[in-house]
Amino acid sequence: MPELPEVETVIAGLKPQITGAKLVSVSNSGKNLRYPLPNFSILLQQHIQSVERRAKYLLFHFENGQTLIWHLGMTGQFHVLAQHQAKTKHEHVTLAFTDGNTLRYRDTRRFGYAGLCRTNDLDQHPWFAKLGVEPLLDDFSDDYLQNILKTRKTSIKQAIMDNHVVVGVGNIYASESLFRAGINPTQVANSLKPKQYALLVQHIKTVLAEAIEAGGSTISDFVKADGKPGYFAHSFQVYGRDKQPCLVCKKPIEKIVLGGRASFFCPHCQPFK
Ligand SMILES: [Zn+2]
Repeated sequence: MPELPEVETVIAGLKPQITGAKLVSVSNSGKNLRYPLPNFSILLQQHIQSVERRAKYLLFHFENGQTLIWHLGMTGQFHVLAQHQAKTKHEHVTLAFTDGNTLRYRDTRRFGYAGLCRTNDLDQHPWFAKLGVEPLLDDFSDDYLQNILKTRKTSIKQAIMDNHVVVGVGNIYASESLFRAGINPTQVANSLKPKQYALLVQHIKTVLAEAIEAGGSTISDFVKADGKPGYFAHSFQVYGRDKQPCLVCKKPIEKIVLGGRASFFCPHCQPFK
C-alpha cells in the first residue's frame, strides 16, 4: 500500500508534467473504484494550478476553485503518457489535456477512490475533517504529541499510527521511528517522558524525510508505463527483521502483534522507561 513518502514521490513525479495543463476530456473503463467516480464535467476546460498532498490523498487544484481528490487505495498508480499510447491493463480513468498528454489511473484491485470538493472547503470535507496534523509540518511538535496523547491508554505504536493524531505514519515508519527513539512500542501512549515525545517526533520526521528522499531518486519510474516502486528497497533497521541481530546491540529483534499489526523492536535498545 502506498504510504505518505510514496504519495509524496508520486506527486513530485506528476507536478512538472501536469501543472498548468488544461483538461479536455475524461474517460473511464466503466468499472467502479471503491466508490463511484465523481462527475468530472465541472473540471473540463480548466487548468490544473497545483498538485498537493494531504495525508495519503493527492489534491489536484483547478483554476475554478475546485479540487480533485484522489486516494490510491492499495494498488493505484498514476502515469503520464502521450494521448496516442495504447491503453494498458487495469487502466480505469484517463484525463486528457490540451497539450496531448494524458494522466492515466491504473488500479489492479480498484480500492482507490476519487472525489471533488471546493478548494476552500477541503478542511471540512468528510475525508479530511477529522485528520490529525501533517508529520512533516511544524504543527507536529513534541508539545502537540504529548498533549494529544495525555489521556491515551493504547500503546504508543498504535497511537502514532492513528490518523486522528498524526497522518501518514504507517506500520513500517512507526516501527522504525520507535526503534530510533529507543522507545518500546508497547509502552502506554500517555506514559512517555517529555524527552521521549521529543525524540519520537524528531525521528518520525527523519524517517519519513529519508524515505521521501530515497523515493526521489526513482521518480522517473512512476511516470513510465511499467513503473516499479523501487524506492521500497530503502533499508529498514527493525521492520521485517525478527530473530535477526539488532544492528546496534546484536541481540535478536522481536516481533509482536499490536492492534493487529506486526511490530518489530529490539527489547534491549527499546526498554520500558
Ligand atoms: Zn538492540
